[in-house]
Amino acid sequence: MTTEFGHGSSAIRDGKLRGGTDGTDYFYFFCPKCEDNQIMRLLDYRHYEEELKNRYDEQMKSKAKKGFTLQFQVYCEKCEHTDTFKISNIGFQCGDYSATL
Ligand SMILES: [Zn+2]
Repeated sequence: MTTEFGHGSSAIRDGKLRGGTDGTDYFYFFCPKCEDNQIMRLLDYRHYEEELKNRYDEQMKSKAKKGFTLQFQVYCEKCEHTDTFKISNIGFQCGDYSATL
């Protein structure tokens, strides 16, 4: 199993990677290939991009401490699917979700 980061596969694109919180505030990602919300294990993460001043602050009512993109690698223990995705505040981050697809 590799810990290298690449690009997310078509299995997670177009709204196919979903998840939810548990009884507290922890968030889990569900395997896009298994039909029973199998939780994917987070294997690794990295700072993909970072900027000291968020370039979208001037367009928003809120102000971010900085700009960042984190990339995660996930793995499904059940079907062995591995994938990667990013979470970022550099780019689209408000409004209607359907506009992102
Ligand atoms: Zn799976």
